Amino acid sequence: ISDYEKFRIEYWALEEAKLQRMPKPKSHATRVALVTGAASGIGKAIATRLAGEGACVVVADLDADKAAAAAAELGSTDVAVGVGVDVSDAAAVRRAVDEAVLAFGGVDLVVNNAGLSLSKPLLDTTEADWDLQHDVMAKGSFLVSQAAARAMIDQRMGGDIVYIASKNSVFAGPNNIAYSATKADQAHQVRLLAVELGEHGIRVNGINPDGVVRGSGIFAGGWGAQRAATYGVDEADLGEFYAQRTILKREVLPEHVANAVAAITGDDLSQTTGLHIPVDSGVAAAFLR
Ligand code: NAD
Repeated sequence: ISDYEKFRIEYWALEEAKLQRMPKPKSHATRVALVTGAASGIGKAIATRLAGEGACVVVADLDADKAAAAAAELGSTDVAVGVGVDVSDAAAVRRAVDEAVLAFGGVDLVVNNAGLSLSKPLLDTTEADWDLQHDVMAKGSFLVSQAAARAMIDQRMGGDIVYIASKNSVFAGPNNIAYSATKADQAHQVRLLAVELGEHGIRVNGINPDGVVRGSGIFAGGWGAQRAATYGVDEADLGEFYAQRTILKREVLPEHVANAVAAITGDDLSQTTGLHIPVDSGVAAAFLR
């Protein structure tokens, strides 16, 4: 990379350090949040950010032990609890929402973040791959939104539902038909539910991340190696590769996605629903190279 690019990377690293030192606003102090897939990666960062703003948090994840451990990192059971849940199981989802209501008196903010990537080329994608991908991300987020909306409507205090979709919900990349199709499904759930739940004061918005390599479990599970091979780079350099193909040349970390969730569910954007915010350093805004 050029000297100028090196300078930009160093400059942004300094800016980033400055941002991390600044105190975070506390606009979620009276809220109860349930974050799916919150035992690791982006979901854990979202749970941490919301807890840092004073929200009570339910860390919901397929891996119950990791969910409990992640919740314990956030504080005592007065402020965070871990719940084991498979989001594709309707009864388990209802139990998780009930646990939130039991533990903290209600639920105001739900993040559909749980996910996995079995991405393969079309000809290698099995029926089982397609079904699992859709069960967890398309059906799973539908079930979570439905159970949460029921609780929010009963409470008559409005609420927020957020989908961690993807740049891939809009743009096609190589070798990920099953993953991207479920992300497009989630993106349309955002618009449909924004329309349907608006009269109850429930806002529904989406975040479209891209290239969150460091700290993300889905890149560790073979997908990173597959992506690296697709692009002809070493797996260890994948985060930097993604950063370099963006407009800002800045790597996207789980914390940046968490910042967007805090912003879109915060008071400053109270009139916004049905929106998707890209958190991708600009990669979706332009075709680069
Ligand atoms: P991750 O693997 O670190 O986190 C996913 C979490 O979901 C894990 O803790 C896993 O146990 C949990 N999970 C999986 N199946 C589940 C189920 N059936 N029920 C409940 N929990 C389940 O990966 P991540 O990168 O943090 O991904 C989080 C979300 O962000 C996913 O929806 C992913 O598609 C989306 N996303 C990630 C990127 C990225 O660059 N990493 C980009 C766009 C979108």
